[in-house]
Amino acid sequence: MNALMDKPASTQGKAVVVGSGFGGIAVALRLLSEGWDVELLERHADIGGRARVFHLDGVAFDAGPTVITAPFIFEALFERFGERMEEHVTLLPVEPFYRMDFVDGSYFDYKSGIEDTVAEIERLSPGEGGAYAAFLKATEVMYQRGFVELAEQPFTRVTDMLKVLPDLVRLRADVSLYGFVSRFFSDERLRKAFSVPSLLVGGHPYRTSSLYGLIHALERRGGVWYPKGGTGALVEALAALFQRHGGVIRTGQQVSAISAEGNRVTGVEVVSGEHYEADIVVSNVDPLHVYEHWLPMGRWGRLVNGWRRRMKQSMGLMVVYFTTRRRYPELEHHTIVFGDTFKEILDAIFDKHELLDDLSLYLHRPSATDPQMAPANQDAFYVLAPVPNLNGKQDWETLEPVLTQRVLLTLQQRLMPDLFEQLSATHAITPRYFHDALSSPFGSGFSIAPTLTQSAGLRFHNRSPHFDNLYFVGAGTHPGAGVPGVVSSAGVVERLVKEDSHKRQKRLVPVQGENVI
Ligand SMILES: Cc1cc2nc3c(=O)[nH]c(=O)nc-3n(C[C@H](O)[C@H](O)[C@H](O)COP(=O)(O)OP(=O)(O)OC[C@H]3O[C@@H](n4cnc5c(N)ncnc54)[C@H](O)[C@@H]3O)c2cc1C
Repeated sequence: MNALMDKPASTQGKAVVVGSGFGGIAVALRLLSEGWDVELLERHADIGGRARVFHLDGVAFDAGPTVITAPFIFEALFERFGERMEEHVTLLPVEPFYRMDFVDGSYFDYKSGIEDTVAEIERLSPGEGGAYAAFLKATEVMYQRGFVELAEQPFTRVTDMLKVLPDLVRLRADVSLYGFVSRFFSDERLRKAFSVPSLLVGGHPYRTSSLYGLIHALERRGGVWYPKGGTGALVEALAALFQRHGGVIRTGQQVSAISAEGNRVTGVEVVSGEHYEADIVVSNVDPLHVYEHWLPMGRWGRLVNGWRRRMKQSMGLMVVYFTTRRRYPELEHHTIVFGDTFKEILDAIFDKHELLDDLSLYLHRPSATDPQMAPANQDAFYVLAPVPNLNGKQDWETLEPVLTQRVLLTLQQRLMPDLFEQLSATHAITPRYFHDALSSPFGSGFSIAPTLTQSAGLRFHNRSPHFDNLYFVGAGTHPGAGVPGVVSSAGVVERLVKEDSHKRQKRLVPVQGENVI
């Protein structure tokens, strides 16, 4: 994975980025383009983190993100190096954006066209189509403030947070996403359909701030895409861009400690004992894991325990990857299969850490958009079920095969009547995988939950308050989970690093007659 071409003369110093999730790769690219000498360390032999690629039955599966929005954030990364994204990866439009399948046998297609979406609303709930324009307008306001203006804004001081409080009050960010959607639609199915985005970032729609309505505007403005060859192709294209311009990726490097002198970090140590020196370290690994396991926290230890106890985690995920012996052209690319209940399922998962018999699922069929994602006349899917994170007492070793059967049975009953006849191979991951393989402290799918009291300056800070040159990128930090969120967090880190370099340079400006070494 090491390619050294066009290596620019390093001007800023050495940056070590730990973790090759979307956030890690994005920050590595940004720092590289700013003249840092960047090394990216990844514990696994492959890259991508939650967006890595699994192989099953000779088929490549995206392990995680499948809904790619805001293509401009990736285009901007290529443009930094004078390149064009479309020469390296092709984004295919997804239509409909999602199909929502309800237990009463009805469905709702959320489409790429506004008029088509309004027609779908009217078909499902006559008389409600007119509300869509007002709903979209309200989400646009949130998008403007929450994404355009604040997503790359650092929140490291109390005053940063105080500055945005009036806006949060004005936008009624205290109202839940479900509550916000309910102001516009009365049909329960539409309320569920438009509240789903909070689950895409790991939040309960009844607790997640209405600000996450911005996801709807983001999808509407930028579209919903799928990279040709899968999300893994986008990860590979970004990694190749990094390497083409002199960045170094070292896989199989599991970091076990960050070395520090006083309030400055000096590098990272990997399990083999090797030490990588650095002028700055950026962690793409969950901040709680880093503070608990890698740093000499000394007197701050109690603080870390407090975070562990108090911070609300996002839900866990069970994902079953499977292949079938026939194609299912009757199924869309993204289908949300709502259970009998909605709030009850989520309350059980988020509050009681329990799993009900009733399940809500998300089914991914990439061959609907890119036929090459499955062998000819066969198909490849993943089905995702929100489940309790490891705060629950489930024994996942026992539960995994049982739940796999229940999930597949639900699919057979709802969408794929011949599934068990056609099923070829399966592979499942559970919250244990997120804990063991991705260093997620509670095995949660999306790090800490996106509640209002864990947003912006109340999430883990993108610059450590304890170590001057340690930064955090990725789902646990501001602005939060989801691919656009973690890529934006790389922008926050870049701003902080620049700010800090600038401050350091100012301190180094020689006073007349004084020598600075
Ligand atoms: C199943 C699933 C589906 C999703 N679907 C979508 C979607 O459709 N659209 C969307 O926008 N978002 C989606 N998300 C959310 C999105 O994928 C994540 O929020 C985002 O990819 C997380 O990126 P990250 O930068 O935080 O890093 P992560 O992907 O969490 O990567 C962290 C990296 O750190 C590495 N690491 C951990 N410990 C060490 C160590 N000790 N040493 C070195 N490296 C280490 C890991 O191996 C990993 O590569 C989904 C998530 C999941 C799990």
